[in-house]
Amino acid sequence: MISFTRWTTVEEVVEIPLAFPEFTYSLTPIEKLPSVLDNKEYFTDVLGAVTKISDALPLRPRSQQVHTMKRTVTVCDESGASLDVTLWGERATSFPAEQLHKDGQHSPQIVIFVGTLVRGYAGTISLSGGSSCKWYINPDVPEAKKLIASMKSVHQPVAHAPQVKYSEPRTSVAEHRKVSDIKYLHPFKNKKVEWLVTVKIMKIDKSWWYESCKKCFRTTRPHGNTYKCSNPTCSTISAPSPRYKLVIIAGDETGDTEFVMFGRIAQRLIKKTVDALIANNPPGFIPDEITRLLEKVFTFNVCFTENTISSGNVSFQVNTIVAEIDDGNPIPLTPVGSQSSSAVLSHHAGTSVECTPEKDSDFTLPSP
Ligand SMILES: [Zn+2]
Repeated sequence: MISFTRWTTVEEVVEIPLAFPEFTYSLTPIEKLPSVLDNKEYFTDVLGAVTKISDALPLRPRSQQVHTMKRTVTVCDESGASLDVTLWGERATSFPAEQLHKDGQHSPQIVIFVGTLVRGYAGTISLSGGSSCKWYINPDVPEAKKLIASMKSVHQPVAHAPQVKYSEPRTSVAEHRKVSDIKYLHPFKNKKVEWLVTVKIMKIDKSWWYESCKKCFRTTRPHGNTYKCSNPTCSTISAPSPRYKLVIIAGDETGDTEFVMFGRIAQRLIKKTVDALIANNPPGFIPDEITRLLEKVFTFNVCFTENTISSGNVSFQVNTIVAEIDDGNPIPLTPVGSQSSSAVLSHHAGTSVECTPEKDSDFTLPSP
């Protein structure tokens, strides 16, 4: 990838040098992807043999009023490790699925996806390909030749994959509710139902982050001189990754209740990374960047946390920050970034919370 700075100059080269590469990529092996999870600084390039291709289907992300197209391409490496690459928007529709499916009946189809972002959900890593994503199909490069050679003897025809459950187009749109309208609802009967609430932040819990497992985001605990994930199906042993878990009490004129915000959702509100706040504040202290949220009014898209059912303590997970309200007037939130989209998934400290993927537009709140 190329990064443009204020010192970058662009010069047109009319005669293309002979040595100019036809393919540009810097491959990350599938098993190394967890180490670049959620890295937004750099794009990731991956090589694989196509095993499955889904249709491109419209999906309405939580934060959008329009549909976007989504297609999943599954690839594998020599060891058989499988990886889903989700293509969005124009990338989903322009992917040559039919041709690849046809050619893939007889011979391995090797693709290098470049310009993708690595995402994790419930312990599974996937790649997300938006407008920055590009692909090379059966490129004439050594890595692809090596993979073709090793796949030839074990080649299975490329399959047509049905779209998975959570990517079906959403049929309902979150409606505005008062806090008293939702906090007494049956959490099991209203599992995964989303509402919009406009609430003022009244209290912030003093524990605002936790040590998360790098792979599945659940709580990881000290284990000898390292950490072990508390999720029995994951049990990853590795250094922990601090992650926001902001627990607040907020309410409107009808009542108040508990809301929980994780990871990037909390970061959108706080506008600082969790690492920066941990580094600059003594343990047990709630940083000013967080306490300044007190008395502020926001519109959130929320649903019951899974913990509500298991613990009996009513709590809502914030899926999206829809707006900040100033003196009764909404301050518009500016979407930053474009098609480079993916599933934004929220995870709970103890249990993973399944939520519908949304388009990954990052929303930044204007500075006060
Ligand atoms: Zn884990």
